[in-house]
Amino acid sequence: MRLLENHSLLSYNTFGLAVQARYFFEYEMVSDLQTFLQTDVAKNNALYAVGQGSNLLFTKSFDGVVIHANNNYFELLAEDDNMVLLKVGAGVVWDELVAYCVQRNWYGAENLSLIPGTVGAAPVQNIGAYGVEVKDIIEAVLGVDLQSEVQLLTNEACHFAYRDSIFKKSLEGKFFVTDVVFRLSKNEAYNLNYGDINEALTHYDEISLATVRKAIIAIRESKLPDPKVLGNAGSFFKNPHVSKEKLSSLQQAYPGIPYYQLTEDEVKIPAGWLIEQAGWKGKRLGRAAVHDNQALVLVNTGDADGLEILRLSEAICSSVIEQFDIQISPEVIVL
Ligand SMILES: Cc1cc2nc3c(=O)[nH]c(=O)nc-3n(C[C@H](O)[C@H](O)[C@H](O)COP(=O)(O)OP(=O)(O)OC[C@H]3O[C@@H](n4cnc5c(N)ncnc54)[C@H](O)[C@@H]3O)c2cc1C
Repeated sequence: MRLLENHSLLSYNTFGLAVQARYFFEYEMVSDLQTFLQTDVAKNNALYAVGQGSNLLFTKSFDGVVIHANNNYFELLAEDDNMVLLKVGAGVVWDELVAYCVQRNWYGAENLSLIPGTVGAAPVQNIGAYGVEVKDIIEAVLGVDLQSEVQLLTNEACHFAYRDSIFKKSLEGKFFVTDVVFRLSKNEAYNLNYGDINEALTHYDEISLATVRKAIIAIRESKLPDPKVLGNAGSFFKNPHVSKEKLSSLQQAYPGIPYYQLTEDEVKIPAGWLIEQAGWKGKRLGRAAVHDNQALVLVNTGDADGLEILRLSEAICSSVIEQFDIQISPEVIVL
């Protein structure tokens, strides 16, 4: 456990922004977090949980306490012929959890390979990729509230939705995820109907958990910039949901517009396509830019500050509204 003052957050945000936290509290034991939450420093300052900062845009230094989980453990809670229940510390790096499951032939997490971040943050925005969301494998989420009480939320109680959960709504800033319990399957089953997975799998001799993981890692590495090389937070915007009528009117002007059916009345349009059509792909505004190959990803080309990246995102939103009359909103949390 440690409490530091004026601590740099450079290695706790993947945009590579040189910001600081007034206080930085890191814990290994949940009981230490509970004790800390009763202190004057905790009671008199704004509190904010940060994992790797791979979904955050700091527009200024954080004038409060950053709380960072460093409890890195895996505990097998239960097992039968069909499934395992695995409890994992919030501080574990997400992709290490995926690798751990794949090595043991436990199914369910493999499509979420190589998503940056920590286990504790995964339920917050219900991370998802290649047709799978983390809600599909979460049994329960444990954490500590502002009264230092340990709480367990069942999957249902987390109110998971597209890149959303109770942790971004009524529990925002009031609940620190300390552990997540996952339910993984021992029965062979893959989810390969999304994106280019099948095509990428043709490079391997067999379909197995290991090759699905390798294929997904290869696709992601070919499409997304590595934050260690070029600061970014992955997809900056969420894909907007629009009505069928809105889609029909757009199709008159853009017959090739891509979309995914959500319900009978609603479709999802890739925000990256809208941004590209609005002419932003590869464009720079100051030291912030839209990635050359991936219009959904905003990058820090060097020493950009968070406000420059925010300004770029706002200019993109305005262009998309002007051209399509569609409001796109950030997936990244702006602080
Ligand atoms: C290159 C790249 C690719 C990405 N691809 C994807 C993708 O395919 N799919 C996807 O869904 N996301 C993706 N992301 C976004 C990001 O990986 C996820 O949002 C991830 O879960 C963030 O984890 P983190 O530990 O960095 O959380 P942070 O960015 O530090 O925090 C994110 C949010 O979670 C909260 N939080 C963090 N830890 C806790 C905790 N212990 N308790 C309570 N709240 C907490 C924070 O307060 C904040 O609100 C990508 C990001 C990058 C950089």
